[in-house]
Amino acid sequence: MKKPKIVILGAGYGGLTTAVNVKKIVGTQHADIILVNKNEYHYETTWLHEVAAGTISPERASYSVTDIVGGGVQFLKATVTNVDVANKAIATTEGELTYDYLVIGLGFEGETFGIKGLKEHALALADLNTARNVREHIEYQFASWAKDEEKDDTKLTIVVGGAGFTGIELLGELANRVPELCEEFHIPHDKVRIICVEAAPTVLPGFDEQLVAYAKDYLTSKGIEFSIGTPVVEATAEGVKIKTGEDAFDFIEAGTVIWAAGVRGNSLIESSGIENNRARIMVREDLRAPGYDDVFIVGDCAVILNPETERPYPPTAQIAMQQAVTIAKNIRHLMHGEALEHFVYSDKGAVCSLGHSSAIGAPFGQKLVGKPAAALKKVVDNRALLLIGGPALVAKKGKFKPF
Ligand SMILES: Cc1cc2nc3c(=O)[nH]c(=O)nc-3n(C[C@H](O)[C@H](O)[C@H](O)COP(=O)(O)OP(=O)(O)OC[C@H]3O[C@@H](n4cnc5c(N)ncnc54)[C@H](O)[C@@H]3O)c2cc1C
Repeated sequence: MKKPKIVILGAGYGGLTTAVNVKKIVGTQHADIILVNKNEYHYETTWLHEVAAGTISPERASYSVTDIVGGGVQFLKATVTNVDVANKAIATTEGELTYDYLVIGLGFEGETFGIKGLKEHALALADLNTARNVREHIEYQFASWAKDEEKDDTKLTIVVGGAGFTGIELLGELANRVPELCEEFHIPHDKVRIICVEAAPTVLPGFDEQLVAYAKDYLTSKGIEFSIGTPVVEATAEGVKIKTGEDAFDFIEAGTVIWAAGVRGNSLIESSGIENNRARIMVREDLRAPGYDDVFIVGDCAVILNPETERPYPPTAQIAMQQAVTIAKNIRHLMHGEALEHFVYSDKGAVCSLGHSSAIGAPFGQKLVGKPAAALKKVVDNRALLLIGGPALVAKKGKFKPF
């Protein structure tokens, strides 16, 4: 009998964990498993702020997909160019694929909210290459300041748009990296400005107030400036225009503008034929797409409501990896004609790093700050490696550097 074909799109936290679990739970003897990803490597999206700041290398934050999935899973290095669920057709740069079961785990794209000039003039933090680009851009600006006879100090100003989780983690890394860059390029530290611009009235919405206050004070003590409640209304090659009052605007001249304020799903979702909002799909309780019994959605392309708040859970690696396990089990149930399981999210709490040696977090309702929180963050990062690639991956890529 012909084996069913399971196609998994994307080898991020969601897709790669799905592949590992489908292999384990369904078994390669019972299905053809095909994993499609645009790169031959997986990158740790949750470490991209470190790559962008230059505190770790791109190589350190990535590893081979085939080393993880091993034999039995066919890996196709290709870019998906169209998803057509009505015709069960996936177009890729390496040809067309069809499937019996499809898992879409194509991740996120930055949301620019239609702000003028942002796409053209702000740097994104969306994948390994955009993170590498941020690092190189900052280094280039510092190097040209050092080389130029006439010093333009705005080259040394870095604007980070967004004081959410990603923005704050990036600021923490930049606070550590800038002194190193100043030393390397012989730049007086007081010439450098790092400014966080946020439209909302608070930093880190959703986090406990005491923890937020700790994070803000800590980053301020490291020289980070905050401009809160001042939306960016335009970006240009010279910097960003912000709204400071009813009819009041300010312009921040900056050599580097990084946009870390908001994500949406992968734009391929919008033309897939599946009902979506900003390229994210409100999945059913068993993680299938509405109207398509053979299509599962994992990770940032999926939306699930928190039953307590009736609001969507924030998109995280934590939820993506838990969804992946339920999806693998549900594919097996479908193959055996059994009832599908409902996904129940077990929220372990978020830990937001403030550079290498500090963090804030609320694991299991306990408030943690400073070094203990930073140590916990490393445990969280290492646990994710363990769940995807076992102890060998932890030994190779794990974070063990002392403070
Ligand atoms: C800086 C930063 C820090 C974060 N920190 C945390 C944290 O501490 N804890 C936490 O839980 N979450 C964190 N997150 C969120 C977390 O990283 C995401 O929620 C998670 O990566 C989502 O997993 P995913 O599998 O949906 O997408 P991704 O991990 O982004 O993977 C998507 C995959 O699809 C591939 N792909 C995309 N388009 C195509 C295409 N057209 N063709 C082929 N392949 C394609 C990509 O190359 C990638 O491999 C952070 C995010 C950022 C940016």
